[in-house]
Amino acid sequence: MNPTPAQARISVIGAGPGGLTCARVLQRHGIEVTVHDRDRDADSRDQGGSLDLHEDDGQLALREAGLLEEFFALARFESQEMRGLDPSGRLLAHHLPREGETATPEIDRGQLRGLLLRSLAPGTVRWGRTLASVDGPAAGPRTLTFTDGTTCEADLVIGADGARSRVRAALSPATPRYTGVSFLEAWFDDVERAHPEIAALVGLGSAHAADGERGLFAQRGSGGHLRVYVMQRVPADWITANGLRPRDTEGIRAHLLDTYASWSPQLLRLITDNDGPYVDRPLYALPVPHTWEHTPGVTLLGDAAHLMPPLGVGVNLAMLDATELALALAGSATVDDAVRRYEETMLPRSAEIARTLEGGAEGLLATADADADGSLRH
Ligand SMILES: Cc1cc2nc3c(=O)[nH]c(=O)nc-3n(C[C@H](O)[C@H](O)[C@H](O)COP(=O)(O)OP(=O)(O)OC[C@H]3O[C@@H](n4cnc5c(N)ncnc54)[C@H](O)[C@@H]3O)c2cc1C
Repeated sequence: MNPTPAQARISVIGAGPGGLTCARVLQRHGIEVTVHDRDRDADSRDQGGSLDLHEDDGQLALREAGLLEEFFALARFESQEMRGLDPSGRLLAHHLPREGETATPEIDRGQLRGLLLRSLAPGTVRWGRTLASVDGPAAGPRTLTFTDGTTCEADLVIGADGARSRVRAALSPATPRYTGVSFLEAWFDDVERAHPEIAALVGLGSAHAADGERGLFAQRGSGGHLRVYVMQRVPADWITANGLRPRDTEGIRAHLLDTYASWSPQLLRLITDNDGPYVDRPLYALPVPHTWEHTPGVTLLGDAAHLMPPLGVGVNLAMLDATELALALAGSATVDDAVRRYEETMLPRSAEIARTLEGGAEGLLATADADADGSLRH
């Protein structure tokens, strides 16, 4: 069975930026789709930090989704500012966006999800649906089984379910590997009033400092929020290996102060003055290249297909994949033709990018260097 895209039952797993972009572009072309996500609802968990959407992928996707103008209304152009510091707090490099610069404006992850969700036909997303497995013959239909025991059939399953994808197992045995670098997230509220020194240190965008072994990356969000990633070359279980517990904020803070003892008091505020607990985020990546034999009825996009270290491309690639897959479905006679066309472009592109970023998590710990134009190189 190889239905036309208009007749097919299409299920997207994952209401992240990739899955929602795919659903939106499909619906703009009159193709029906259902999205299943494990979250209880759209606001049931903190969506995380700020994302910069690039002109030739993330923004291109939003143009195809008919949402670029709305994105520009929400985006923070001033947050394209970037500062590179050394561990003493000295400014090594500084990129100040030019008037009218639109290359990499920032948006909160939650705002991006909201923008995409509002654009979908009511009832498109089924919340509280955690996929357990994809079964069924290659000739179709595929059976989706959810952790609550319910099932449904689909002619095409699109795995947009992120780093720990459950759809991936239907195509490839690969699993993400620890990169050797771990992030610890800290956040600050009402930064201008409650943390003015930090606001002044970071500026309106982001600030990065590293000494080869460890680093700090601070990033503004909307509404006075600021997020810091404490970046360390450590085992994935470093918190428990040091006799600490993930919610032991004071214990972790004391350990970090010891680890960053040679850093300036000004930068240490990014570790000590945070509001609320730390969030442990060890970084994983899929083996490079990650690829699979074309299999009818199932495909992947975004982190599910090519999880890479977080060097500013992940969300952009997820949205580009999503748009290209949706456009292929809109422009092909059959679902299988569309998926083949999509994979023929997406798999080599992501393999090439993954090769250039392989081991890149380590690069986040390298001392910032200034290019001639003052932009940052890590
Ligand atoms: C700390 C950190 C910072 C980052 N910063 C940036 C950045 O600045 N710029 C950038 O481009 N990228 C960044 N990234 C990478 C970026 O977050 C990802 O590449 C991007 O979110 C991938 O989008 P996605 O739609 O493929 O998957 P995700 O955003 O992971 O979405 C997956 C969705 O699937 C759902 N889901 C998962 N499993 C199931 C299941 N079994 N059943 C049903 N639903 C499921 C989840 O609830 C989620 O909604 C960062 C990553 C990290 C870890």
